Amino acid sequence: MSTPILPGATVGILGNGQLGRMLALAARRMGYRVHCFGPDHDSPAGQLADQAVCAQYDDLDAVRTFVQQVDVVTFEFENVSAAATALAAEYVPVRPDGRVLDITQHRLREKNFLRQAGFPVTPFHPVHSLAELENGLGHIGYPAVLKTAGFGYDGKGQHKLSRPVDLEPVFHALGDQEAILEAWVAFEREVSVVAARGVDGTFVHYGVIENIHHNHILDLSLAPARLAPELAAAAIDIARDVLEQLDVVGILCVEFFVTSDQRLLINELAPRPHNSGHLTIEAATTSQFEQQLRAVCGLPLGGTELLQPAAMCNLLGDRWEGGEPNWAAACAFPEVKLHLYGKQRARPGRKMGHLTSLGSTPEAAIERVLAARNALNSC
Ligand code: AMP
Repeated sequence: MSTPILPGATVGILGNGQLGRMLALAARRMGYRVHCFGPDHDSPAGQLADQAVCAQYDDLDAVRTFVQQVDVVTFEFENVSAAATALAAEYVPVRPDGRVLDITQHRLREKNFLRQAGFPVTPFHPVHSLAELENGLGHIGYPAVLKTAGFGYDGKGQHKLSRPVDLEPVFHALGDQEAILEAWVAFEREVSVVAARGVDGTFVHYGVIENIHHNHILDLSLAPARLAPELAAAAIDIARDVLEQLDVVGILCVEFFVTSDQRLLINELAPRPHNSGHLTIEAATTSQFEQQLRAVCGLPLGGTELLQPAAMCNLLGDRWEGGEPNWAAACAFPEVKLHLYGKQRARPGRKMGHLTSLGSTPEAAIERVLAARNALNSC
């Protein structure tokens, strides 16, 4: 095993959003220094870092200066260029490495990797032209969903095709860029496995988490997922294989669709702490953020036992439409924990924070967390 990077060292985070913020909190608690890098001033992670570098990800001079001042680099944002991670790797360990990032930041590369490795995925077709879109629809049929291959998250750059329409404006609306056409899956539920792999190949996971989306954005997660034990075990086996085949060091989340005939299809991979894993902060022995820190620093991984069922719901910017939410009303639920990301401007669909509750059952936790969220918009 390589020499661990110990408390007192400096962790460099590429990206400065809420995932970086929660990673920075875990790192500072354990005595690490934190530097983050991203394009925004007064960012969620920057507010908590020892140093926040404000620069574009393709500014390689800024990346070089940044990595020269840290002991290890990880990222909380996938859309960092291969050139930036390759440059960083000349100076310090980059975990997970640039190959993992390269595959998972591009939907087509990711799906091709998964399909070639024999993992179950949604039927898909690459789309580089209008003709390929027409041809793909001929194979896949309706409904289908067209997604940009790169730079997509939270439903951005997606277009559902429910019935035959004029495809030209649909293709052009995506900016004529490389895209992927997927069959629309009439899933029974969506689940994820948040897992981690250490420098020595040790694998740990947080069981299966169930996710409910609204407008393609995660709304609610609960753990453990309401899933047959055999299917949960199969999802974990798939996640283990994915992390091993990608040789991941760090956290990686595998998102699945569970079909009505009880099959698992991988929807997407995220090579970093994931929104569905936020509930591990309160519900697990080691949060996904501390786990990420341990993995990328080459420390032994922490326990992942779920201490109690839990539910987490997101707070999107839409909630600010009528003014500042009523924080005191949500805090009147003593078991519910409020997390806010320090974002100055609330926009519809923007993740501003989340609430988590533990409960004796997942249902009890959901009930509590939703009651607290409803209270936010009370007078
Ligand atoms: P994605 O950004 O690809 O993870 O998509 C966000 C959400 O949109 C997913 O979690 C699903 O709720 C929905 N979605 C995306 N692709 C599909 C699909 N092929 N079939 C059904 N729902 C989908």
